[in-house]
Amino acid sequence: MGLPTHTRYLIVGAGVHGLSTGYHLARELRARGKGSGADILIVDKTDVAAGASGIACGVIRNNYFQPAMRALMAHSVSVWESDPDALSYHPVGYMQISPEAMHEGVASIHAQQRAIGYPSVFVEGAADCLTYMRGIFHDWQAKGITSVLHEQKGGYANNKAAMAGLARKALAEGVRIEPGVRVCGLRRSGGAVSAAETDRGVISADCVVVGVGPWIRSIWAMLDLPMAITVVHNGTAHPNVTMWRYLCLQEGTLGVAPTLQQTNDGRMPPVIHVDTDAPLHADPDGALITDQLWGIYYKPDFMFNGVQGGAAPYLVDQEEVRIDPYGPASPEFVVGEEFVRMWCSGLAFCQKRFEGQSHLYRREPSGGLGAFTPDNFPVFDVFHQNCYVIADSNHGYKMIGVGALVAKEILGEPSAILQPFRFSRYAEGKLHPTSKSPFPWS
Ligand SMILES: Cc1cc2nc3c(=O)[nH]c(=O)nc-3n(C[C@H](O)[C@H](O)[C@H](O)COP(=O)(O)OP(=O)(O)OC[C@H]3O[C@@H](n4cnc5c(N)ncnc54)[C@H](O)[C@@H]3O)c2cc1C
Repeated sequence: MGLPTHTRYLIVGAGVHGLSTGYHLARELRARGKGSGADILIVDKTDVAAGASGIACGVIRNNYFQPAMRALMAHSVSVWESDPDALSYHPVGYMQISPEAMHEGVASIHAQQRAIGYPSVFVEGAADCLTYMRGIFHDWQAKGITSVLHEQKGGYANNKAAMAGLARKALAEGVRIEPGVRVCGLRRSGGAVSAAETDRGVISADCVVVGVGPWIRSIWAMLDLPMAITVVHNGTAHPNVTMWRYLCLQEGTLGVAPTLQQTNDGRMPPVIHVDTDAPLHADPDGALITDQLWGIYYKPDFMFNGVQGGAAPYLVDQEEVRIDPYGPASPEFVVGEEFVRMWCSGLAFCQKRFEGQSHLYRREPSGGLGAFTPDNFPVFDVFHQNCYVIADSNHGYKMIGVGALVAKEILGEPSAILQPFRFSRYAEGKLHPTSKSPFPWS
């Protein structure tokens, strides 16, 4: 079948956002008697899960300091829960384990989770935290911890398997997914986007949805949107702020049996995220790695075949950033020895079972680039009348529910959950609050 020259809805990108939007839009059209999946075409320059969604750690949590993010995550968790098998979703829960510097902020997250009915347990004080953690892992030994937020929902999903499941759900609704189609330009007519120029021909569309993850800067340019913007923060205007910055996410896998990380009662454990200001020394040689606030996250994962996780990303301070080849195929943006030493030592710092295990780290390329907005939070907005941009600022694997809300917005039903993520917030000074976490996405 040749590529169509027209579609009502053209979705660019077959990652979590493109696929979720396609699937949910098809359902909405059918339910409203306004069409079906046959009205939707998803194109991807490579294939399903070729971008960040295909290499993500896959952690799904509610733990965000920003109320708007928590509302969005609560909604997204309900979408993950709607079909755990098809979406390869493991609802094992999630733990944010923090030092005193973050205590107050995490306490407010817990209070607000209660207010929105999101189930979590909050433990305070060093002694109680140690007892609580040892109740789960007998060998828990992390220092500098004074609060534990244990979210009973959330967990993780297997990156590529979940995307394959989501693609199957979209296909079953009649959506067409076309791999190997690169959008090279976007034509406009009467102020609206009228067609996409692709390397396989021109496709006209009534509505275009963009979900291209780390490739957002090139589509942003095709839409003639500004590469530098004014950001109003605390009443002061900061002109000429770079719209898209790149950070490299550092993740890897310790090649132990995933079952090594079972809980005391033999279950698969929650995803662990630890931040602390206790000094981190190298395992096994004891050299100081850092005495500043640091953090790691990890979970056992049968698809990665080990205990997989990561540490804070680093800023890619370059004018030109080569996104392709992406992920593990990149010659530049994969983790190095410094990460391996830090992350493996961090594991040993947290749990005795990981002491002396760093030689089992899987030395294969891992990690990858993400494109971040000026405040590190997503932009979900319509540009040029009919082009919906989903730019999640690279913490959006968990945000599977965005597509469901975008589908409704496209059909004329505004979403209060998406409202705080409009592009105009930068000029209006309506930024999200920032936390004390060492990670740019908490
Ligand atoms: C190493 C790593 C770990 C992460 N871990 C987590 C995590 O644990 N939890 C979490 O919530 N988030 C995580 N993230 C972030 C998350 O993966 C991304 O925010 C999310 O997957 C982005 O989804 P997307 O659909 O916007 O883009 P992508 O999944 O990147 O998909 C974009 C697609 O667009 C296609 N494309 C690009 N340009 C074009 C074009 N011009 N024409 C046609 N097609 C095009 C690409 O081929 C790609 O398939 C992680 C990210 C990285 C890099």
